[in-house]
Amino acid sequence: MLTAVRRLAAIIVVLLLAAGHTAAAQYQNGIPVLLYHHVNDDGGDMPELTTSPAEFDRQMGALKDAGFETITADELLAYMRGEAVALPAKPIALTFDDGYEDNYTYAFPILKKYGYKAAIFMVGINFDRPGRLSGGQIREMAAGGFTVGGHSMTHPDLRARSGAALREEVAGSKAKAERATGREARYFAYPGGFYNLATVEAVATAGYRGAFTVLTGLNKPGGHDAYFVRRIPVFMFTDFDRLLALLNANAPKTSLLQYDLVLPQYQDRY
Ligand SMILES: [Zn+2]
Repeated sequence: MLTAVRRLAAIIVVLLLAAGHTAAAQYQNGIPVLLYHHVNDDGGDMPELTTSPAEFDRQMGALKDAGFETITADELLAYMRGEAVALPAKPIALTFDDGYEDNYTYAFPILKKYGYKAAIFMVGINFDRPGRLSGGQIREMAAGGFTVGGHSMTHPDLRARSGAALREEVAGSKAKAERATGREARYFAYPGGFYNLATVEAVATAGYRGAFTVLTGLNKPGGHDAYFVRRIPVFMFTDFDRLLALLNANAPKTSLLQYDLVLPQYQDRY
């Protein structure tokens, strides 16, 4: 009899632990950060880096239906530093690189519809250029809770820059973003995802508090990871539904997310 009671108690404890895990700890295996570029029906010369507005709307709706809520770069980095930060049960961060005007025209209204926020990493020389975000658009998005960060001045491979030229690329884009928004630009995204030790040192020295890569996978707390934030790029050919299923699974395997989630119609080409 006593054995049976103990067994029942043990089963109840296990069930309670399991319930607590699923209810409150979706991000125990790490927080995903998605990377977009163009949101447009015509990506010009970069179709791979383009998501149509209809597809982007569908993807954001699918995330919302699955219970994901966006967090800011500040919240993500606080979590990664191990600081106490209140997070939704299923957090995700969204980012856009380069600063295309279609981020304002198409992505911004869709994100607002779902109550979502994102970070925009802006190339310094692109402010107010045709097809790129204007200072006014950037200010409006920043006022709406979007994070605006640096992405270098001219989008070179920063491994090929050193000294003053490297400093200007990194610090110059920080100053540009801060002039546009009137707010501190705390985060950087490595152009093309390329960096070396000198790049990381220049980014930290310029005063950025973290930097975003194109290393795939999820982000977990860890003291040295602030300058190596992982992102999952969403390409034209990405099978988003398979990606969402992996993100939704909350399984350790999601730390191994790879680039091979390719839609059937593109599998011959990518
Ligand atoms: Zn870029």
